[in-house]
Amino acid sequence: MSNNPADRVQDLQNFGEFGGVNPSIADSSTFTYLKASTMQAVFEGEQEGCHLYSRHTNPSTSYLCQALARMENTEAAFVASSGMAAITSCILQICESGDEIIASRTIYGGTYAFLKNFLPKLGIKTHFVDITKTNQVEALINANTKMVYCETMSNPLLEIADIPELASITKNTSIKLVVDNTFTPMIISPIELGADIVIHSLTKFINGASDAVGGAVCADEEFITDMLDVNNGAGMLLGPVMDPIRAASILKNMRTLHIRMQQHSHNAKFISEHFLKEGIQVYYPGMESHAQFSLMKKCFNEEFGYGGMLVLDVKSKENAYAFMEAMQNDNIGYLAVSLGFYKTLFSAPGSSTSSEIPEEEQVQMGLSEGMVRISIGIDNNINRTFEKMKNCMKKVGIL
Ligand SMILES: *Cc1c(COP(=O)(O)O)cnc(C)c1O
Repeated sequence: MSNNPADRVQDLQNFGEFGGVNPSIADSSTFTYLKASTMQAVFEGEQEGCHLYSRHTNPSTSYLCQALARMENTEAAFVASSGMAAITSCILQICESGDEIIASRTIYGGTYAFLKNFLPKLGIKTHFVDITKTNQVEALINANTKMVYCETMSNPLLEIADIPELASITKNTSIKLVVDNTFTPMIISPIELGADIVIHSLTKFINGASDAVGGAVCADEEFITDMLDVNNGAGMLLGPVMDPIRAASILKNMRTLHIRMQQHSHNAKFISEHFLKEGIQVYYPGMESHAQFSLMKKCFNEEFGYGGMLVLDVKSKENAYAFMEAMQNDNIGYLAVSLGFYKTLFSAPGSSTSSEIPEEEQVQMGLSEGMVRISIGIDNNINRTFEKMKNCMKKVGIL
């Protein structure tokens, strides 16, 4: 199989029921059997490849699973109704009362809240670390550690996790290295760098249309089979299932993911470099000024670029709010959370997506009130967009 994620997805060939070029959508919750004994064999796990009930498996969700497994180079995948559904069911599949997790402190706000507030109720403890300091991870490992959890590129500071280094710590142990790759599909292939499990919020770049919520867990066959186990699987028993019609629409959007990622990356690099020249503080992992630039270069699949996310620090909350409102008024994009849309989306992380993180911890992490997180769109003329953004900055007195 190709060692390129885009080629591996491209090479899938699924005919529809009547020879359609898209697989037919199986909008059925349950499936018939010609023989009662076959149904029994499926229930008992002795007969594979049959669909039984759509909370377990469904042909349409299976096609999407196949494409995601191809992209991340795993044996299998599981899709869920949201990124959080994928994250929570994956964690609950691995951890039980008494277990410990070591997690990056700069993770998605929902994941942070789940680890910090929810899991202690189940007796699962999380140690939060600065993931760029891998010695902190090593120092916290003990006999109860079950998982190291991080994001490839963290929200909102775009710090890059050193997956090869983290993998060298968890290798030869039973500790799972779980990586949320939502910001960098195609760009970084965590499994090839040594991760055990890759998670995605499909809601963002992978779907790319801001019309759906979904999530995925990509892992080896054994883990995905465990997640779907009718007696013990978190993917089966917690019911985080994705709807088959939604799975079909996300799969169709996924076919242009590689082109979109290239354009997002091209545009984000252009905007970052030009604002840096204007004297604005910019966070973008594709520039030498970023602390993990060389690590990013070591880890990424170059042809897809450095990603579509960047952060501009305009020094105060007032500036940030005025800048964002001006950009929306000028039709540069939308003042909205989320990312990976065809048009630019922007928000102030301190008071939105990272608001679950207490203020003093935000300061510790290097978050500041004047930060504007930008998910750059796939704009055809990015120079025009830059000029418009610059004008907005002038209008509100930042430049
Ligand atoms: C959005 C996001 C999630 C959560 O995904 P949902 O689809 O909103 O549940 C998890 N991780 C990251 C990095 C995200 O950006």
